[in-house]
Amino acid sequence: MNPAEAVAVFAVMAYLVVVALLLGSFINMAADRLPRGESITQPRSHCRSCGRVLNLVDLIPVAGYAIRRGRCASCGASIGASAPAVEAACGLSMLVALATLGLASGALAGSAAIALLGAGAVGWSFARAGARRESRSD
Ligand SMILES: [Zn+2]
Repeated sequence: MNPAEAVAVFAVMAYLVVVALLLGSFINMAADRLPRGESITQPRSHCRSCGRVLNLVDLIPVAGYAIRRGRCASCGASIGASAPAVEAACGLSMLVALATLGLASGALAGSAAIALLGAGAVGWSFARAGARRESRSD
């Protein structure tokens, strides 16, 4: 691989890790909304406590949580550490897969890992919502 090819491969890998982080953010949103029977397309991402629509800084995976110190910038409501944890897990899954398997196989394995993470996170969220409903009806 010549230096130009190496730079191109690195750029594609970096892009895939960014996409993985954004998919983690999407998984968080889906895990939050689907068990409540809410749409995953409308409305725009917002604070559950005060309704403020999230801006670009809030939506940066992992770093947005760190910049906001885990709280809503308007009302100070806690965001919950699971959000950056899921985002980081997705980003790391892709990074590790690419680093160990190379571009093609790594992209496939990383995508599969993220799909499993997503299914696990959404499934876990449904189970938690079911447990909450059961404890309320007791
Ligand atoms: Zn808020």
